[in-house]
Amino acid sequence: MSEKRGKLIVISGPSGAGKSTVIQKLMEMRSDLCFSVSATTRAPREGEVEGTDYFFVTRDMFERMVRHGELLEHAEYVGNYYGTPSRYVEQRRAAGKHVLLDIEVQGASQVRSRIRDAITIFVIPPSLETLRQRLRDRGTDSDTVIQNRLKRARAEYKEATFYDYIVINDDPDEAAHELDSIITAACCRFEERGELLKL
Ligand code: 5GP
Repeated sequence: MSEKRGKLIVISGPSGAGKSTVIQKLMEMRSDLCFSVSATTRAPREGEVEGTDYFFVTRDMFERMVRHGELLEHAEYVGNYYGTPSRYVEQRRAAGKHVLLDIEVQGASQVRSRIRDAITIFVIPPSLETLRQRLRDRGTDSDTVIQNRLKRARAEYKEATFYDYIVINDDPDEAAHELDSIITAACCRFEERGELLKL
């Protein structure tokens, strides 16, 4: 087992910011990084795999996990519950791996207050106009749903002030590179390496 605990990295951003693509690219770049699979009560979307994308659970099961203290954080988002199982995060960090959470702003706030040295990153599109265009191009949402998503994005932007870093996803490869650099820089901080200076 590695001596140094892995870091906890929290990524949030509005729906349509392209977070999932960027995270996928980042995961391919770093073998020291693990993705924390969340539990959710929302129904699986086409192509989503149990245990890879989410653990799909009933509301009863989710509430039991909350009662038993099994979640590091949890939140309700658009009528569904989402939460991060603590055990995986703890085990991987203890084994020296960095753990990445893709969670919304309420959950990120809970993590920030519980884990002081968590690294928090907010991913945004180049502009709200780009976001509107991406949501339209996806073709899955009605105009009303798109309006609601944009309204939510504006509210989420206010929460972005509490994050450590902002990454702009204009080009997913560049955005993944920025995330990679943030993790590398965090590992080079004095408090990580200062003890190597002891003579
Ligand atoms: P989706 O339903 O589109 O997969 O996710 C909706 C939102 O829930 C996204 O912003 C995603 O980051 C967030 N989310 C996914 N898993 C978790 C979780 O475990 N906790 C919290 N708080 N949010 C989550």
